[in-house]
Amino acid sequence: MDLLNELWKINELLTKALEQYKARGREYAKAYRDYRVLLAQELLKLKADGMPVTIAYDIARGTEEVAKAKEQETISESLYNSCQEAINTYKLQIKILQEQINKGVCKWRLVMKKNISVGDIIGDYVILEELERKNSQHRYKVMCNNCKEISTKYKHHLIRNTKCPHLRFDKKYGKLQIVEKTQKRYKGNVIYKCVCDCGKVCYKNTDELTQKYSLKSCGCDRQSNLENNTERLKESIKKYYKENTFLCSLTSRTSEHTTPVKGVYIEARTQKYCAHIHLKGKKYFLGRFNTLEAATKARKLAEDILFEPIIEKYKNELKGKH
Ligand SMILES: [Zn+2]
Ligand SMILES: [Zn+2]
Repeated sequence: MDLLNELWKINELLTKALEQYKARGREYAKAYRDYRVLLAQELLKLKADGMPVTIAYDIARGTEEVAKAKEQETISESLYNSCQEAINTYKLQIKILQEQINKGVCKWRLVMKKNISVGDIIGDYVILEELERKNSQHRYKVMCNNCKEISTKYKHHLIRNTKCPHLRFDKKYGKLQIVEKTQKRYKGNVIYKCVCDCGKVCYKNTDELTQKYSLKSCGCDRQSNLENNTERLKESIKKYYKENTFLCSLTSRTSEHTTPVKGVYIEARTQKYCAHIHLKGKKYFLGRFNTLEAATKARKLAEDILFEPIIEKYKNELKGKH
């Protein structure tokens, strides 16, 4: 697949180079013609002035305009040539890639031709028995070396997918080691019998064993986990609880249900916009307003007066938080 992608990319580059090649070709042709026309004109002029033809050619080429045209022609020519070179390089790369791709295809055919016999090990699977063909396709009874499941597989499936789709028995999930795949399922998830580092046996499903934040033990480390969490909470309080208030609550933008602005709500009784602000356990009422804008303005003003000095004072603590 990667080879195909690469081939595709180079093909695109080639198409672009070909377009450029055409444009450069046109430029080169024009520069060449310009130069020739200028040279001819100069020669005619010199001849009319009575200059001998043998010298006239050299003199004509030496005049500024003609020399400039010649220079332009040379530049266009080299650009044109470099385009040609790029195209050749791309073509060569494409040829090499195509050969590699063909080789890959051949390898695949070779594998398909390969005879599989009883006792062979292909990836996770051991061939137990060759079964009767179905739709002229080879079929085998195989056992998975990982989860010990016995199943029937087609030859082309065996060759393409040599890894068992189940959780690994040769790997540990946290403190747990899988010892058996049970027939039970939880919401479609296979349930595995596991042994914990502490020696206890427990049952976990695929999600519990693979999800990032799940508890990967029999539960024996739940206690230490809880202690850790309490410790973390204490630390967080020490760091963020200043002057009887949580710094985070000053900067959070979580709003009320009735308006999108924090600290502004619509009073049910009056249907007016009320603004308020909390600090250090106290609630300050800022007034009732007819418009959301006016209420928002009042709230902002209160924030500037009450919150800003504290936020400013502890801005280092808050830096990592938001
Ligand atoms: Zn398996
Ligand atoms: Zn345990």
